[in-house]
Amino acid sequence: MKIGVLAVQGNFREHAAMLRRLGAEVVEVRKPEQLEGLDGLVVPGGESTTFKRLMRLYGLDEALRSFGAPVLGTCAGMIVLDRNHLALVDVDVERNAYGRQVASFEADLDLAGDDVPLRGVFIRAPRVRAVGPDVEVLAEHDGEPVLVRDGRFVVASFHPELTEDTRVHELFLQAVEEASSVRA
Ligand code: GLN
Repeated sequence: MKIGVLAVQGNFREHAAMLRRLGAEVVEVRKPEQLEGLDGLVVPGGESTTFKRLMRLYGLDEALRSFGAPVLGTCAGMIVLDRNHLALVDVDVERNAYGRQVASFEADLDLAGDDVPLRGVFIRAPRVRAVGPDVEVLAEHDGEPVLVRDGRFVVASFHPELTEDTRVHELFLQAVEEASSVRA
């Protein structure tokens, strides 16, 4: 499986390392044409304002709109995909909404269909304020969604690439596998 990691800014190296550990071939994406032939794409965490500026500058925002394979967005990646930005995921997200003092924290999350909690690392994380009717909530923190799936999009407000737990990336690669077997 050939997975792109948007590499304009932020935590792309950590995502790439984790995907390689899981056996994927990884391409660092900086130009629209690098999206061609990919089976999936990761939009990492970083700074969403910088992200949006650079994506527009390189034409990656338009390219992402026409990209048809599964996408994993984490933290700032979740922000740029939401209703108010690229409008690819039916969630409403508020940036930096955990307040200054507790802006960064870790928490054990209940993962749908799994008894083992998932350690979530939240760094000036966005908060999901609303989800559309077709959005599946895969994990919550204090009753609020933090990991959701909307069709071929999986988005997390935390940083699964910063722990040793590979389950979120595995879930994403499974979606990639399903999508490519449908295409084949
Ligand atoms: N606070 C950042 C933003 O608003 C997101 C933080 C992150 O990706 N770790 O873009």
